[in-house]
Amino acid sequence: MTATITEQEILGWLREDNLQRLEELWARADRLRAERVGPAVHLRGLAEVSNHCARKCGYCGISACNPAVARYRMSADEVAACAHEAVRYGYGTLVMQSGEDYGLTADWVAEVVARVKAETPLAVTLSLGERKPEEFARWRAAGADRYLMRFETSDPELYAIIHPRLDGTPGLPSDRLNLLKELRALGYEIGSGVMVGIPGQCYESLAHDLALFSTLDLDMIGIGPYIPHPETPLGRGELALLPEGEQVPNTELMCYKAVALTRLACPEANIPSTTALAALYREQGRELGLMRGANVVMPNLTPPRYRALYEIYPHKACFHETAEAFNATLQVRIAALGREIGTGQGGRRHVEAEEPISTNMFDT
Ligand code: SAH
Repeated sequence: MTATITEQEILGWLREDNLQRLEELWARADRLRAERVGPAVHLRGLAEVSNHCARKCGYCGISACNPAVARYRMSADEVAACAHEAVRYGYGTLVMQSGEDYGLTADWVAEVVARVKAETPLAVTLSLGERKPEEFARWRAAGADRYLMRFETSDPELYAIIHPRLDGTPGLPSDRLNLLKELRALGYEIGSGVMVGIPGQCYESLAHDLALFSTLDLDMIGIGPYIPHPETPLGRGELALLPEGEQVPNTELMCYKAVALTRLACPEANIPSTTALAALYREQGRELGLMRGANVVMPNLTPPRYRALYEIYPHKACFHETAEAFNATLQVRIAALGREIGTGQGGRRHVEAEEPISTNMFDT
């Protein structure tokens, strides 16, 4: 996939605060989105299947460091019910996400994936953290189509601080870039992404993150603001901000810039307008994301009794909306943007590799 922007240009735009000039960036991203992935907004139903987690990530509210969280695991029947709900609403994908929960055994995940694939026409995306290559292979064989694993930041020092290696596993820090390559080799569509405005994240490092999306040729890219959670080391202010002018702010505007620039860096990727973005601006955040480069929305299908327990950051927009109510308004909101709801599984398009579509049936 050919980037339409260099890392230096990305850096320039990240530092641009003139709203009039930014209109140019929004227009360029929206135009490229329309040309390369079209008007469709693909919908992925999200099931947060477990909030158990073995990791101690400094930013995340459900990490093993937080004893205040009541832990749950959904049953296979509950996950299957989410999948059927996704089908009823016309979504093309079920995303199963969780903390890094080794209590979700490879067998259990494989069985649930196989069941969803047998009972529905959905694509299945997994986002279960860092697991063994054999497990990834097993789930792929069971029918899983895609895997999401954000690398969070490409700055190795910052990453090692905010995403410590597992207790009892001395050696190198986790290597998500390598795992993404293994996932691709297994035939998964791969997704990654970052948080915007992590304490200690500088502009150069965010510009490098976005350029790296293109180098990795990612199929899906999720970007959202870092939102402090009070029960976490970062939320308690244990990591200092860089001086003003160096620290990337975790603002809505900075996230729109990152989304738009990601479209310019990865013209054909599937890019969600994330729930975290909607958390900053509940009324319009999702729409503005869709108007500035994004082409995917991930409605939350987690059963209401679990939803508030999957609190990776506070005030998630979806705490306030049921799946049914959200779905009812979504159709109207997408139509109001002059867009349409995507049909089918909505996988990654490879425009450059595709034959031009002939409109003349007598063409040979
Ligand atoms: N255990 C899986 C899924 C994690 S939750 C994994 O590690 O891949 C999905 C994403 O939520 C994370 O990758 C992270 O980018 C985001 N997230 C977690 N805590 C956050 C916070 N406090 N603010 C914003 N985003 C957060």
